[in-house]
Amino acid sequence: MMRSPFVFEMGIPYEKSFVTASENKKIRLKVAKDWHFGPAVCSADAGGNAPFYDSLALVWETSSEDARNHCCMNCEEYHKIDPNTLAKAASFPRDASDANAGPRMFCEKFGFVTHAAQVCQAWESCGEDEDDESPPSSKG
Ligand code: SF4
Repeated sequence: MMRSPFVFEMGIPYEKSFVTASENKKIRLKVAKDWHFGPAVCSADAGGNAPFYDSLALVWETSSEDARNHCCMNCEEYHKIDPNTLAKAASFPRDASDANAGPRMFCEKFGFVTHAAQVCQAWESCGEDEDDESPPSSKG
């Protein structure tokens, strides 16, 4: 689902209402279920959440160490965020998912508040590294 903070009516842009806490929770659960989003609670331990990253590595057909190098912060979606949306994400009610997860961000692909340290299998390179434009599983 593509979501934009602005919609156009009769050629005039106006701001669409931001996702609510309830909507955000539903979307987050759905992305976790369908797109391997997580970890639900990030760890301060560099080797934490091993089952999550091992599972993501299986999906991408790569190593767990490589899977850990992918996060929302270095996903293409992060670089689409406008400052207004980032400010709204930052002011969103805090919950357990904020622990050890880094700054808030907003995923335009799925339309929900996420964090720098989280990730999902739909991760895409922001294009800064020419050799790393796709999730690991699609590398030839
Ligand atoms: S698409 Fe990118 S920004 Fe959105 S949840 Fe997945 S990794 Fe994070």
